[in-house]
Amino acid sequence: MRVSYLAVSDKKCTVQMAGCNFRCRGCFSKQGKSGGVEMTAKELAGHVPEYMEVMLAGGEPTLDSEGLILLVEELGRNRVTLSTNGYLLDEELLERLRGIRVHIDLKAHDSWLHNWYTGMDNAPVLEAVRLLYEKGFGFEVSSVYIPGVVEMPEIENIASFLSGIGDIKYKIMRYVPVNDFSRRPQVWEIENAVRKAREYLGNVSSSIENRSHPEGREIIRF
Ligand code: SF4
Repeated sequence: MRVSYLAVSDKKCTVQMAGCNFRCRGCFSKQGKSGGVEMTAKELAGHVPEYMEVMLAGGEPTLDSEGLILLVEELGRNRVTLSTNGYLLDEELLERLRGIRVHIDLKAHDSWLHNWYTGMDNAPVLEAVRLLYEKGFGFEVSSVYIPGVVEMPEIENIASFLSGIGDIKYKIMRYVPVNDFSRRPQVWEIENAVRKAREYLGNVSSSIENRSHPEGREIIRF
């Protein structure tokens, strides 16, 4: 697997993998493009402090599925959360990842919009959400609110789709402008989207309420 860096805070270690199978127009992550250092699962696990929760992120951590399974075994599955675009999360891979938590990013429910934004079809992602629910995984779905691209109607469609599967945990992320692709959403836009999604789902939050990047973290680059 190709690894870019580790971000270590008090209780959590985030592993940033390199490379991605999507080509999102508003990609926030340099790791989505290229770079990184090739490592075995054992070598990588050796850099992760034993007592910490681990977030596997990217880029896209499922690109090397065999490496991912080995890494989860090395780390101990009950402390691992996988952050993924979900495209490669099929039934076989999920069976082998049982016991971990999953954060799956659903960019858009509209298939044309998803294709336009990511360059890829969203059918495998929608199916992955259904499989995660049916298999009883601890998971949440997130979507990035991107002004002019993914706004209230799309968020409502996603919330409606999720509610058709079950009362799935849903988080709306505030887009961070990186390349003049769009602007930063206003707080009221996110709040309105959360309010609308709550008409469908019982557990909706946003990145405005709980920030996922703790202060004072150390970056270990490879
Ligand atoms: S899935 Fe994430 S890392 Fe990959 S291109 Fe899209 S935003 Fe970037």
